[in-house]
Amino acid sequence: MGREFDVIIVGAGASGMMAGISAARSGAKVLILEHMDSAGKKILATGNGKCNFTNEKQGIAYYRSNNPAFVLPVFEQFGLEDTLSLFKELGIEPRSKRDGYYYPASGQASSVREVLLMECRRQKVRIAYNVGIRSIYKEGKYFIFDTKQGEFRGKTCIIATGGKAAKKTGSDGSGIPYIVGFGHKVTDIVPALVALQGKQSFLREIAGIRAENRVKIYIENEEIAEETGELQLTENGVSGIPVFQLSRYASYGLSEGKEVYVLLDFLPWQTEEETVIMLEERFLKYGKGKSAREALIGLFSEKIIGVLLKEAGISTETRAEVCSKEEIKKLVNVIRHLRVDIVGTKGFDAAQVTAGGVDTEEIDAATMESKIVSGLYFAGEVVDVDGMCGGYNLQWAWSSGWVAGKHAGEGSKQL
Ligand SMILES: Cc1cc2nc3c(=O)[nH]c(=O)nc-3n(C[C@H](O)[C@H](O)[C@H](O)COP(=O)(O)OP(=O)(O)OC[C@H]3O[C@@H](n4cnc5c(N)ncnc54)[C@H](O)[C@@H]3O)c2cc1C
Repeated sequence: MGREFDVIIVGAGASGMMAGISAARSGAKVLILEHMDSAGKKILATGNGKCNFTNEKQGIAYYRSNNPAFVLPVFEQFGLEDTLSLFKELGIEPRSKRDGYYYPASGQASSVREVLLMECRRQKVRIAYNVGIRSIYKEGKYFIFDTKQGEFRGKTCIIATGGKAAKKTGSDGSGIPYIVGFGHKVTDIVPALVALQGKQSFLREIAGIRAENRVKIYIENEEIAEETGELQLTENGVSGIPVFQLSRYASYGLSEGKEVYVLLDFLPWQTEEETVIMLEERFLKYGKGKSAREALIGLFSEKIIGVLLKEAGISTETRAEVCSKEEIKKLVNVIRHLRVDIVGTKGFDAAQVTAGGVDTEEIDAATMESKIVSGLYFAGEVVDVDGMCGGYNLQWAWSSGWVAGKHAGEGSKQL
């Protein structure tokens, strides 16, 4: 393998491979340096092995960053339609499922990785594996990559090293020192799309329950956001898609030492007045001969009934018909606003994504090029952009990878 390239990309993940394909299609000679023994390990884990690779619903609301509008010029150049049509060309037949989630028709994340690797081979993108990079610096017009396998020189450099989530797939944060070394600011990074740990001991009693729920997150008593979907209660906390969607706020709140809690609403499809009427009916009208616990059977799963009653201060064996309207109101309040204090997250190893990254203020959104060092580009999760659950993080990887690769490839020809 030669040692001089137009574009050298660090990281052969989703965004790095996409950047490689795009740069090579613009005529550049491309090398990807990967420190693992294979490419796209994280892709294999996506969508429970099925790879939810994008979503038909797109818009700025699905992306989070200190500056969410940063994503717009990137998606204008390479958005959903471009992604679907490129993947179709590469062989991925898209199948849209619930909530607009797209998966490959094969049902296998491995096919997404495979078609990217096939295209890298066709476009003569070299991938060097098990490469240990000691440092990256610029000397004259070249970026020098000082590695344990010797020196590589690139006219342009794309950093696509991902975040810190799921480090066994290779993204361990080791790309950050290269970025800081170039004088870039990296915003605080925290785990996102991750389960949360709660304080209340009742969680142990209801572990394993899944229930339709509206989850609201509060930081220092201020409501920050809410999400509705299937809540999963775990032995020491809360999980499931609505919790994942809110987790970045919890992560940031906790990292700043703030009080974080969620309120769980177990009847999100009703108004509170409807819940009062329904419970008065179940307890006072149809509750004859039933205990309070029995009056709730058929409405909630059995494990949770005991916890809801206990939190409302009602004994499970109290006769339903003797409960006062005041007690019923208290129970409604617990059902609609069960508080769980958040004391931690499950951490980067359990997280799907990293929030925070290279400060977008210092990147040109039209090209993904650094505003500080010419010829230096960024792609993917390493940038301060994280998407919601639903295919948005891979969409960001494809789009930012494509844009960075195209401009790095074209830019290298001017040098
Ligand atoms: C369990 C799980 C499920 C997920 N499911 C989905 C999903 O269904 N849909 C979705 O949109 N998103 C999903 N995601 C998120 C998505 O996979 C990531 O956002 C996406 O892969 C980010 O792409 P990337 O190229 O920026 O980083 P990565 O894919 O993490 O790739 C970074 C690459 O850089 C390499 N690297 C890192 N540091 C160095 C270094 N110093 N030197 C050389 N190489 C280096 C790594 O080994 C890796 O190959 C999921 C994530 C996880 C963990």
